[in-house]
Amino acid sequence: MEKTLSIIKPDAVKKGVIGQILTRFENNGLRIAATKKIQLSQKEAEEFYAIHKERPFFKDLVEFMVSGPVVVSVLEGENAVLKNRELMGATNPKEAAPGTIRADFAENIDANAVHGSDSLENAKIEIEFFFSKTEIL
Ligand code: ATP
Ligand code: MG
Repeated sequence: MEKTLSIIKPDAVKKGVIGQILTRFENNGLRIAATKKIQLSQKEAEEFYAIHKERPFFKDLVEFMVSGPVVVSVLEGENAVLKNRELMGATNPKEAAPGTIRADFAENIDANAVHGSDSLENAKIEIEFFFSKTEIL
């Protein structure tokens, strides 16, 4: 069993599709081990996406991530990291496969509905960023 971190980004929260996205996880073998709605601070968003700090889109990415509340969740299941990435679809919604979360709910590469950990190693770091052990059940 693996655990991975999901973020439902501000665009999808504003659209009112939290339930629809969480249902996709549950319908595809990903159990919700923890979930909460939070407002990221500038500092938290910069730290979370620090890996991209040299990229030209970093400033816009951080601005977008603090533009409204997000829903962070720990998803658990077999191959959870890869399975979540498959359900999400490609980073650019225009390239995302039909039926994926980004194809169905995202507008563009900046506002792309969801984040998912890209490796087991990063999943562990990202889960610890948002949740204490006692919150993951
Ligand atoms: P995430 O990390 O949010 O799950 P991802 O792993 O599919 O997305 P990354 O390469 O990690 O994609 O990029 C992080 C985020 O930065 C993307 O979700 C997207 O919103 C933004 N981003 C990535 N590439 C670009 C780009 N070329 N132009 C604008 N924004 C981008
Ligand atoms: Mg990424």
